[in-house]
Amino acid sequence: MATQNNSKVVVIGAGIAGVSAALKLVYNGIPDVTLLEAQDYIGGRVKAAMIDGSPADLGAQFIHGRTGNPVYEIAAKLKRIPFAVSINPREESLTNPGNIFYTSSGHKIQRDEVNDLIPLLDEVVEEEPTDGNGKSVQEALESVYSKFLSDNEGKINPAKKEVYEAAYRWFSKYIQVDNATDDLSLLSCDSEYVVLPGDRFTDVDNGMSGLVATLAEQLPPGVVQLNTPVSRIDWTGEETDNPIQSSGSKPVRVTCENGNTIEADHVIVTISIGCLKATHKTLFQPLLPVPVQEAVEHTGFGLIGKIFLQFEEAFWEDYRESTQDNYFESYELLWLDSHLPTIQSDKSKRKTKSGHPWWYGFHSVETMYSHPKVLEMWLTTEQTELSDDLSDEEVMAVCTDVLRAFIKDFPVPDPLAIYRTKWFNNPYIRGTYSYASTQFRKQDKKHFGRPVPSYQDPQVLFAGEAYSKEFQSTFHGALISGDNTADLLLSKHGLKPQTKLIDLVSP
Ligand SMILES: Cc1cc2nc3c(=O)[nH]c(=O)nc-3n(C[C@H](O)[C@H](O)[C@H](O)COP(=O)(O)OP(=O)(O)OC[C@H]3O[C@@H](n4cnc5c(N)ncnc54)[C@H](O)[C@@H]3O)c2cc1C
Repeated sequence: MATQNNSKVVVIGAGIAGVSAALKLVYNGIPDVTLLEAQDYIGGRVKAAMIDGSPADLGAQFIHGRTGNPVYEIAAKLKRIPFAVSINPREESLTNPGNIFYTSSGHKIQRDEVNDLIPLLDEVVEEEPTDGNGKSVQEALESVYSKFLSDNEGKINPAKKEVYEAAYRWFSKYIQVDNATDDLSLLSCDSEYVVLPGDRFTDVDNGMSGLVATLAEQLPPGVVQLNTPVSRIDWTGEETDNPIQSSGSKPVRVTCENGNTIEADHVIVTISIGCLKATHKTLFQPLLPVPVQEAVEHTGFGLIGKIFLQFEEAFWEDYRESTQDNYFESYELLWLDSHLPTIQSDKSKRKTKSGHPWWYGFHSVETMYSHPKVLEMWLTTEQTELSDDLSDEEVMAVCTDVLRAFIKDFPVPDPLAIYRTKWFNNPYIRGTYSYASTQFRKQDKKHFGRPVPSYQDPQVLFAGEAYSKEFQSTFHGALISGDNTADLLLSKHGLKPQTKLIDLVSP
């Protein structure tokens, strides 16, 4: 065990960033840690619904990349990487689905028919950051697409053009969901996101929620206080005379909604950027420095939705035989302008800003390794907002009717049940994850996530997915960010971390 230090640290938020920060501190010499969580569970944006007796993740679901990914390493050590995943080649690109495309006119088409366009679009989102020129992904995609059309002028008949248009929208939906924003003009090409080598989408036995639970179990009893929302953080607003060494008077006071207060030397805030945007003006006393506030305001934070449809049997089983790698992964849906299906079960008649019904544009219906009788559908921001308060019955009926409109070559049975995400209205999450916004300026970089008042005197520190430049928006980004923030504090106190998170778990 490393040398002990008697500083008091309060961590706010028991998502994976808070859990990893608390573990790192407790096992490396700062044992006096309290982890305050507003909700009644540990995990934050990692939470599962039980379907057929096993967890289906409503939040983080996949490990993105293997080599250099601590989450993959932890899951592998715990023997939670299912064998089946190793045959899944979803590695080439973000949008590397199976081969089965259906159009809204009910026709099945092969991926080959649109495959001259998709890799070109893929390159736009895969390419290196454009060095701060502020270009948006929308601009970049539009320019590639119009070049594609002009290069192929005269070769594309109107029917084929309609399919390409639909494929372009389909691709855009993928990017919208991947980045949790419908407005791709706000999504910056300057993201510093690093794609780690290895499968893009690795499932975990017992879900990501199982991983968080295993890690959180390593926290000593009494560290975590659930159902304890923090309402105020009083910090000095300026550097203390003798930072770090000051003992006795503690510079930060944390007040909880239940009236309890805790004095601490350091506070690590891990609440989502959505929550921070909504509450920072009342949460911090004094207010955060203006450049820090601006950096938060300029960071993108968006929303997506997930729907799980549970069936009695996997009616898509037959496709396993017909696909190249003997694994059927998804139905990809191409919405043709000339064939907008009529969905009788849509009683709400809610429309998007562009005048489409809320269910227009479902782009992909995926199978799940962990749940062989479940199909998963993804919703963009606006779809999620518009359908959030509709009844489960209506959403299930609409989703089924959409599937039936596309898949005409065999009957789609009624699902048994539906499970849906509800992140938008959760006051302690307020969305899903952050994204690289075109509004985020060069000067914001310097202030985003920096401790206040300063690195010298880190009274309030920040951790969470949004602060991970390379792995923004991901579970591993959040874990690494919590770990790094704890390291910063340890080093300020002259402690050298010797225990890593992976050392704490065993199969
Ligand atoms: C639908 C969805 C799908 C996703 N899919 C993936 C995926 O497949 N792979 C992947 O890598 N990532 C995925 N992610 C992202 C991943 O879930 C997050 O990046 C990660 O879990 C964020 O962890 P965090 O600790 O930074 O924040 P959070 O998990 O949000 O933790 C913050 C905690 O703070 C608490 N809190 C908020 N306000 C207060 C307060 N005032 N007082 C006390 N506590 C408070 C919250 O309740 C929460 O528990 C997905 C996320 C969502 C929502």
